[in-house]
Amino acid sequence: KPHVSAALGRIQPSATLAMTARVTKLKADGVDVIGLSAGEPDFDTPDFVKEAAIEAIRNGQTKYTLVDGTVALKDAIRGKFRRDNGLDFGLDQISVNVGGKHTLFNALVATVDAGDEVIIPAPYWVSYPDIVAFCGGTPVIIEGTAAQNYKITPAQLDAAITPKTRWIMFNSPSNPSGAAYSPQELDAIGEVVRRHPHVMVMVDDMYEHVWYADFAFSTLAQRCPDLIDRILTVNGCSKAYAMTGWRIGYAGGPAWIIKAMAKLQSQSTSNPCSIAQAAAAAALGGPQQFLDDRNAAFKKRRDMVVAMLNDAPGLNCPTPDGAFYVYPDASGCMGKKTPDGKLIDSDEALIDYFLDSARVAAVHGGAFGLSPAFRVSYATSEAVLKDACVRIQQACAALA
Ligand code: PLP
Repeated sequence: KPHVSAALGRIQPSATLAMTARVTKLKADGVDVIGLSAGEPDFDTPDFVKEAAIEAIRNGQTKYTLVDGTVALKDAIRGKFRRDNGLDFGLDQISVNVGGKHTLFNALVATVDAGDEVIIPAPYWVSYPDIVAFCGGTPVIIEGTAAQNYKITPAQLDAAITPKTRWIMFNSPSNPSGAAYSPQELDAIGEVVRRHPHVMVMVDDMYEHVWYADFAFSTLAQRCPDLIDRILTVNGCSKAYAMTGWRIGYAGGPAWIIKAMAKLQSQSTSNPCSIAQAAAAAALGGPQQFLDDRNAAFKKRRDMVVAMLNDAPGLNCPTPDGAFYVYPDASGCMGKKTPDGKLIDSDEALIDYFLDSARVAAVHGGAFGLSPAFRVSYATSEAVLKDACVRIQQACAALA
């Protein structure tokens, strides 16, 4: 009879991928549904990146590479860390993996034992608690509520740390809230970390380049250089360079973690795709100007979506400083009934109602650990977003 491992039994399929699959099925059935569930830029991979990949194929870069990345790509990543973050890593402090998710997975599997605690601020990226649970660790959730602009306070963090804490997961700008921490807020987080020498921080900077705040992006290792031995800085090409399909993620940090990750990778995926690595090196080392143009387009959409969702009865949508998501609080919709008499008693019920009656797909807040809310991705055209927001407004207005 079928048997799955205990480790697999501890995890759920990704809720965002599940919703995106539902949308794909509805579309295939001919239903006019607007999908706002996928965490993927609608822009194309830049041409100069594609050309670098084609060139790599032509000149024979089609074989195994070093297990955790080519020297050429690691050098491009070192250059990126110097240019963007003022961080100077050695070659033995860089790991390249099959997407940012794989980087996080490798780092956690390589370091988390059964019983270890990993602190995860909510709302969190869906995969953090599942990967921790897969390792046999215990996710410890602390909530950054809408009233706190979806950020945690240093006091909350301090209170959550125990002798069993192995990692703190830290993601700014955040998926799903778009919340971004200021340099001063990072300093205050660093101050807490400094007091607990056994704790490490996994800093997920995946949305570094999708940024609208009037202060500049910074990362914890840059703000707190004295903590460099306890920080793994994770990033990737997926979001900044519209390269979700190429699957390149990477990390910079202590050589012992990088080595442990390579050992794990040597017995699982081996090297990331050689052609994708060549493309990633071109992306990281090439012109970066287009990022500003894309941010300008994202910002316009953000402003429209925030304004329109705040006009929907029952929703309160804070304005994010980065990423391409908004995370409206839906407290005002709870306890109401749909025109069909169905009670909206959870954000999951609200999202089902949006999908069934308004034909708009978002992801319920429960998947990100903070309810009642939902996540909308605005990585799609303004015209589609406007249509979607009107549908959500009408659906909210029809609740009584
Ligand atoms: N970290 C965050 C916060 C994300 O939102 C994502 C993707 O959605 C990832 C990491 C992983 O990105 P990928 O595996 O597509 O490179």
